[in-house]
Amino acid sequence: MSNFNDLKAIESLYRNLIIQMGENPDREGLVKTPKRAAKAMQYMTKGYSENIDKIVNNAIFLSDNDEMVIVKNIEFYSLCEHHILPFFGKVHVAYIPNGKVIGLSKIPRIVDVFARRIQIQETLTVQIAECIMSILDCKGVGVVIDAKHTCMMMRGVEKQNASMTTSRMQGLFRKDERTRAEFLSLIKSNY
Ligand SMILES: [Zn+2]
Repeated sequence: MSNFNDLKAIESLYRNLIIQMGENPDREGLVKTPKRAAKAMQYMTKGYSENIDKIVNNAIFLSDNDEMVIVKNIEFYSLCEHHILPFFGKVHVAYIPNGKVIGLSKIPRIVDVFARRIQIQETLTVQIAECIMSILDCKGVGVVIDAKHTCMMMRGVEKQNASMTTSRMQGLFRKDERTRAEFLSLIKSNY
């Protein structure tokens, strides 16, 4: 299943939007814009049609490692659900295994499943943490997201350098202060 099965309907919405702006959708530079914009929007919201089980399939391995695993600086791009404008930044993910580990490349894929939707940053943070917790049944998960919101940068308060940080700590990351401190110091270091 794909999101926006009816791409033609989205094209006509964009065409109408262009008309409402006072532009001429038939002028040369805009003729193909509704189609391109519809495809871009389909891509940017493709998380709705992706399946976590399929993505992690065959990438969960038994392991007796119980040290913290960290994947940091995962780039992401999402759309804020209040303005449908981009917000983007970096996600840092850590977990403490409980008999199972996941292939490292799968964590950015999981981030994208939830980022490629209309979202708020707080929910994105929680969804990534809960997804990893439930797939791995691990001892704890920590997720920190630093992001810039173009809806704040291009309109409204127009604060170009404002960024927002959200975090979600579950299991040991919530209960054990040292675990949480170790995670937070590791994501601040450049190594
Ligand atoms: Zn917004």
